Amino acid sequence: AETIRLVSSSQVITSVVSVVKELLENSLDANSTNVDVKLENYGFDKIEIRDNGDGIKAADVPVAAVKHYTSKISSSEDLENLATYGFRGEALGSICSMSEVLITTKTASDDFSTQYLLDRSGHVTSQKPSHLGQGTTVTVLKLFKNLPVRKQFYSTDKKHKEEIKKIQKLLMAYGIIKPELRITFTHNKTVMWQKTRVSDHKMAFMAVVGTAVMSGMVPFQHHSEDPEVFLSGFLPKPSSDGCLTSHSSAERSFIFVNNRPVHQKEILKLVQQYYNLKSHKDSNRSHPVFFINIAVPPSAVDVNLTPDKSQVFLHNKESVCLAVENVLTSLYGPLPG
Ligand code: ADP
Ligand code: MG
Repeated sequence: AETIRLVSSSQVITSVVSVVKELLENSLDANSTNVDVKLENYGFDKIEIRDNGDGIKAADVPVAAVKHYTSKISSSEDLENLATYGFRGEALGSICSMSEVLITTKTASDDFSTQYLLDRSGHVTSQKPSHLGQGTTVTVLKLFKNLPVRKQFYSTDKKHKEEIKKIQKLLMAYGIIKPELRITFTHNKTVMWQKTRVSDHKMAFMAVVGTAVMSGMVPFQHHSEDPEVFLSGFLPKPSSDGCLTSHSSAERSFIFVNNRPVHQKEILKLVQQYYNLKSHKDSNRSHPVFFINIAVPPSAVDVNLTPDKSQVFLHNKESVCLAVENVLTSLYGPLPG
């Protein structure tokens, strides 16, 4: 049973990045406006995420890390109108099966916070009072210690640095889509990146890409009906060179579907095609900076495609791509042919 648990867990939790993503999404689902992410030794010794959200009720803690427990949906209708990042109840349990987990939490009605120690099956083995304020802190120690092969895979210096960059980009994505969110990201006591609370998407995007790059961007909005697609965001001005990053590790393109950061290769390719055409850039080397939020009715998207939810299935993908092409054509002109 332990092995089966590990195997299924390793589909959700494949890296330090995936742990950070799951914990951050839990913090956001709990209405946090303040999140501190701290790593030690690239996350292998320690990953800690502290939030100021709703906290977990004492009665819910014993089940929170049990596989398939979720407080977020209770019917298939909820699944079709998903308002939260999480819904499968897999992350905490999966993380427990491959690390040592401490959860410290306090709700608004608790007098003080409590720190819980969890075992590999997600059960509470001990608890003690703590001094932390309202919210939840999840501490993940010795990740992958029982999966030496996985740890080995990430053991080169280059891989480590890439992972840190990926985490930073992930945090930036949530920082853009949640302007009100304050985030700090610390690795080995060094602050790697931070963002303050701002008022709107424009300010949030600027906080991520900087004022110089932002001055070369244009906002756009596009609405098409039947099927309903609403697009908004920022694209580089046709003439602007400052919006390019030449290293894929410093890539600053952000695509969201209903506020969820996603990988959408087709849309990324479209933007690159149109932009590179206009700016005569070698399309293999240039990565235009942009931010596209795609809003569709919740029933038109299936977020259950991959274990890590980084890809989504759009029921009207052609219409969405067409809408994106409309925006791109009006900005950069039509593609030849
Ligand atoms: P899911 O997010 O799919 O519900 P998880 O395994 O990620 O599943 O979390 C299980 C449950 O633990 C959540 O449904 C939620 O009730 C609780 N939880 C986890 N992290 C937090 C947090 N930071 N703040 C409040 N509740 C949390
Ligand atoms: Mg979750």
